[in-house]
Amino acid sequence: MNWNYTQPVEIIFGRGSLLKLSGLLNEFKKPIIVSEEYFLKNGLIDKILSAINADVFTEVSPNPDVTEVNKCSSQIRKNGNDVIIAIGGGSVIDLSKSASITVEDIREYHGTGKNVPDDHIPIIAVPTTSGTGSEVTNASVLTDREIGKKAPIVSGSFFPKIALVDPELTVSMPQKVTASTGIDVLCHAVEGYWSKGHQPICDALAVRSAKLVFEYLPKVYDDPDDIESREKMSEASLIGGLAFSLPKTTSSHACSFPITSIYNVPHGEACSLTLDFFARVNAVDNRTVQLASELGFGSVEEFADAISELKKRVGLRTDLSEFELTDENIDELVKKSHHPNLLNNPVEITDEILYELYNNLR
Ligand code: NAD
Repeated sequence: MNWNYTQPVEIIFGRGSLLKLSGLLNEFKKPIIVSEEYFLKNGLIDKILSAINADVFTEVSPNPDVTEVNKCSSQIRKNGNDVIIAIGGGSVIDLSKSASITVEDIREYHGTGKNVPDDHIPIIAVPTTSGTGSEVTNASVLTDREIGKKAPIVSGSFFPKIALVDPELTVSMPQKVTASTGIDVLCHAVEGYWSKGHQPICDALAVRSAKLVFEYLPKVYDDPDDIESREKMSEASLIGGLAFSLPKTTSSHACSFPITSIYNVPHGEACSLTLDFFARVNAVDNRTVQLASELGFGSVEEFADAISELKKRVGLRTDLSEFELTDENIDELVKKSHHPNLLNNPVEITDEILYELYNNLR
């Protein structure tokens, strides 16, 4: 088996590591903090601004829109910023990646296959959720609300320069966000492992990441202030990001894009809605059997049941019944699930399988 492994992001991990931020800025003249309203209101941005000089951009919504990227890029060009400090969840970090190339209109690259320019300003990524692993990946997931499209843009230019991971920043996550972002980590680990693009380094990271989620997600869900468990979830998220960044995600992520863009289900929750189903579909794949065994389950069936149980345990949706899906809605979901990630799944996912999936979720 031939494989490559590249991971260009410097990682600084640990409780209180946000205090190291000002020391990382010596080589830069004009930083911009890209974040969200919540961190203006809770005083975090003011606290940072008492230690460094920086411009601030906070117009970022969950599942960031292409128009928000264009606004941020325009502000960066006007200010002449030379580094982005991205403080927030995956939405903030992803918006920052796309804004870092400072193009006029990011839509030119969104789902068009056009290569992203190499020229970009560096990013220091400071995650406040433990979910996406975006601090170490080369993907920027954007939504174009005007045409109902959610899709990633992938480019080597999008690897942050530094991931500054301070688990203390995740303590303020509301319980629902803890659950949804935490289950996203499991999807990354599992899909990275069974992806056709798998490789040994990512396999090892995936197994560790998934084990951490099964053990610590229920703990942080029950006790948001349990800092040791928060730290373990930050670790799981980061190494889960490393586990899927090269192999890429598969069927659950492909299906999550329409589930989120049409029904506004949060990203991680949308991915997990289909993960147990696809585990059962992939039970004919040897590597899925091996993953179940490495995670300590007696069979893929047991593994899939444990995923279903975990979703219930942390209060996540297990179906889409509240949306009262019509046949036309199901047709649309099947059609829009044909994202390229579907082709990374170890078992071919036909329309027949997708119809079975969505009819089960009704
Ligand atoms: P998010 O960034 O959208 O944040 C979810 C909500 O939590 C927001 O309302 C935000 O304000 C709030 N929040 C974040 N941190 C908080 C904190 N510490 N305290 C209180 N509130 C907080 O959620 P996410 O799951 O981190 O990111 C989801 C986005 O990332 C999606 O668009 C998804 O597609 C994308 N994604 C990207 C990658 C990648 O590799 N780039 C991987 C997976 C997902």
